[in-house]
Amino acid sequence: MKAKALRIAGERKALLEERSGAIDGFYGRVVRPSLPPTFWDLRPPALLYSLPGVAEYINSDLDVPGEISEEAFLPEISGFITQWVSQEKRRLVDLLLSSHPYLDDSGEKVLDLSLAIFTCERGNSARVQHWSSPTCVAFGWQDAHFYVSAGWDLKVDLVGYGALCILLGILGLDPNITLASTLTEMNPKFACMHCWNLAKSAQPPREVHTLTWKDCVCHFFSSCTPSSHLSLLILGHASSRLGEAVH
Ligand SMILES: [Zn+2]
Repeated sequence: MKAKALRIAGERKALLEERSGAIDGFYGRVVRPSLPPTFWDLRPPALLYSLPGVAEYINSDLDVPGEISEEAFLPEISGFITQWVSQEKRRLVDLLLSSHPYLDDSGEKVLDLSLAIFTCERGNSARVQHWSSPTCVAFGWQDAHFYVSAGWDLKVDLVGYGALCILLGILGLDPNITLASTLTEMNPKFACMHCWNLAKSAQPPREVHTLTWKDCVCHFFSSCTPSSHLSLLILGHASSRLGEAVH
């Protein structure tokens, strides 16, 4: 009897998984192309499986997988995704505004600013100091949605903002209005002076890595020096200037 019960439970589990897979396939084949291109990279959140119609389909008592009706499922799923994206973007905008209260609330456009830097911790261990912490850094909605859809808890970390202020100071740009796309197009290259000095004094001397603006922000969370300060040098610039900040 026990073996039979186990077999039935196994078959039921396989059927539910097949239906979840069919929903994923439907999303990729039908829902995704119906959404605006800015949604195409989006990984649908797990909440999708809890939508009433979807949950009913997946948990149906029938012994066969059953059909997915495009007429019923397309509006339900695409409506949910559109609402979810706008709700999550708003939540991230609110996070930024609470950390940078002097910013204008220009809605989703706040996420296009270079200061839209979010972090989350890998694993559940208590937060440790940045330089030894395995921190994920997300720039704008473009990165953040991967974490948000997977249910990760994003935060605004002012340490990342500190790094941004140093490099924008070198470039003479205002952190409160500079767009991430502006920096990416300018593509300035930097070097971390601490790592530069270490590389040059090594025997034999090591190559110095150049950093993009995003690399510079991430460098603050890396294993670079915890001891004093981060100094950045802009490279490939006629009047190379040094920016420093204590953190
Ligand atoms: Zn460094």
